Amino acid sequence: MIDPFGRTITYLRVSVTDRCDFRCVYCMAEEMTFLPKKELLTLEELDRVCSAFIRLGVKKLRLTGGEPLVRRDIMTLFRALERHIREGSLDELTLTTNGSQLARYAEELRECGVRRVNVSVDTLDPAKFTEITRRGRLDQVLEGLAAAKEAGLAVKINTVALRGVNEDELDELVAWCGAGGFDLVIIEVMPMGDIGGENRLDQYLPLSLVRSRLQRRWTLEESDYRTGGPARYVTVRETGRRLGFITPLTHNFCESCNRVRLTCTGTLYMCLGQEDAADLRTPLRQSESDEAVETAIREAISRKPKGHDFIIDRRHNRPAIARHMSVTGG
Ligand code: SAM
Ligand code: SF4
Repeated sequence: MIDPFGRTITYLRVSVTDRCDFRCVYCMAEEMTFLPKKELLTLEELDRVCSAFIRLGVKKLRLTGGEPLVRRDIMTLFRALERHIREGSLDELTLTTNGSQLARYAEELRECGVRRVNVSVDTLDPAKFTEITRRGRLDQVLEGLAAAKEAGLAVKINTVALRGVNEDELDELVAWCGAGGFDLVIIEVMPMGDIGGENRLDQYLPLSLVRSRLQRRWTLEESDYRTGGPARYVTVRETGRRLGFITPLTHNFCESCNRVRLTCTGTLYMCLGQEDAADLRTPLRQSESDEAVETAIREAISRKPKGHDFIIDRRHNRPAIARHMSVTGG
């Protein structure tokens, strides 16, 4: 699949549920109304649509959410997708998780061909962790990380930089990741979805500032490592681990974009920062054959836009993109 700007689409991210056992302050409101079950793609439909993308050239598949590991019977989907890894049509099957269920599933994920996981950890302070996630427990996530290591999964930690919340700890997180053998990606908070009382401008911390502060303690060596995504990487000389920065608000990373995103209801977004989307649930439910869905995917890719329009609207303090990150997947 090649889009109108010559980019080959090889990476699909799929949100398998909008539900989550956490309510991170930058991601969700305290009281969330989740989608009725019938709106969601079934696990079988998710398998069909992922398999269609793989036939059309997707090489890397990431399941996300919401929290992918809280979807009931999610391992059925991982087990089904494993065949593509075994047959060599898919290079990588992976997930982004808050880690709360990892202790239970790490080994099974490994058996399904998963080799790497992204785990979100914004702080190493247990009280602050519960404050940010509103209902998470740090020790449970740390147990999950230990299980992932034990199972031989490579771990990348995702940390959202939050002004006045964890900015004083980022330094420590670099050291902790170095000691644990984890790569780290620091994410700038993005203006997505109404999150209730929290104010985006209060949360916003530019990564240029984070980076210059980290440089006081760490030697950050430029790296040409790229994933085709928004992260720009350096290597921390003292730990030997990679450190990535995702700065969607202040940088433009669209030229090398190789990805599209599917929501749990089967809506395909060709760009995280644009509203244009394609409905894949209708063609999936229309017929048992996958011809209609493949046609819909091809047609959607032919409309992938050149770039995004993120802004935090400073006058109105409204999110520029109204949907939540948990809908499109992070
Ligand atoms: N529940 C899983 C998790 O937390 O890793 C997967 C879904 S979550 C939406 C994916 C990633 O998006 C997480 O690393 C989370 O921190 C990040 N995220 C959520 N809302 C965000 C926002 N408004 N700005 C920046 N990152 C955000
Ligand atoms: Fe849940 Fe992940 Fe959103 Fe936190 S960031 S509320 S863990 S989906």
